[in-house]
Amino acid sequence: MNSIDIILNRLSKSKFRASFKLKEEDFIYIEKVGINKIAKHAYDFINQRLKPKYIKNDGKQTPLKGHPVFIAEHATATCCRGCLFKWHHIKKDKELSELEVRYIVNVIMKWINNQMEIRNKSKK
Ligand SMILES: [Zn+2]
Repeated sequence: MNSIDIILNRLSKSKFRASFKLKEEDFIYIEKVGINKIAKHAYDFINQRLKPKYIKNDGKQTPLKGHPVFIAEHATATCCRGCLFKWHHIKKDKELSELEVRYIVNVIMKWINNQMEIRNKSKK
């Protein structure tokens, strides 16, 4: 297992994190805009809402609905700097590096891909 699979496995054992799942409307949206666009949205959200050194509303910057990436952020504990520190050991009170932003996007996209696989299997 690579490091992202290990952390996703650990998150799946948290009752709170595992309670977040994509709904059919999310899958329809992802298929409509395409997975590359979703990754771009994730990259933009992380840059806007998580990258800055100081975030006024940290812990509240990620809505609980409205975009599949928001759901993925709660499921993967990439929703705020507090969760990023607790689960991913990314330090607070500093700007995120490009490498950290890309790592977070990779975690989110892996989780979304896993959700799509589960959904596609259940459809067959
Ligand atoms: Zn959080």
